[in-house]
Amino acid sequence: MHYCQRCDDPIVMAPRGDLAVCPDCGAAEPARRLPLFVVTGASGSGKTAVFPHLVAELPDCLVFDADWLIGPFERACEFGEVDWPAFRDAWLSFAHGAAQSGRHTVLLAPFMPAQLDDLPGRRWVGELHFAVLDCADDVRTARLAARPRWRERAIERHLGFAAHLRGGVGAIVRTDDGTPAESARRVADWVRSRIS
Ligand SMILES: [Zn+2]
Repeated sequence: MHYCQRCDDPIVMAPRGDLAVCPDCGAAEPARRLPLFVVTGASGSGKTAVFPHLVAELPDCLVFDADWLIGPFERACEFGEVDWPAFRDAWLSFAHGAAQSGRHTVLLAPFMPAQLDDLPGRRWVGELHFAVLDCADDVRTARLAARPRWRERAIERHLGFAAHLRGGVGAIVRTDDGTPAESARRVADWVRSRIS
């Protein structure tokens, strides 16, 4: 979040082009905005398997697994209950920070577009692009059942979320008709086609 460094009150600045501008005094500072790429998917879609390959495919981007912030958020939030809108907003802020270095952020995260639209950080990133990692229900069920015991399963819920995401959230990338490396290549092609 950009606050005016010239005004005596903590005035939140507003984006204008690639600047942040104070609505009171007109002070401006650089605030570049780049598109954010969200690779979503219900549990069992293959996000974790695709991740290292996607990092290798997109050396000029910053590729992250959103789950990495869950632990710090659990410690930061009262009673260990993660404030999920704040969690998602933190990733928008991160993407805005990465854009200042000219880097696009590619986020593997089970997010939906509507969950990001009303967050304070939304106006500090450019266009949101969504891709959905998807697989057949029986493949997802087998993947979830094979997880270690400490991971939650809730198979019916994840199948329902997958069906929802399949209904038009973004570009579909299958993870059950090839290797994780091949799925990552398709995601990388999708990212590159929108950056260039
Ligand atoms: Zn000001």
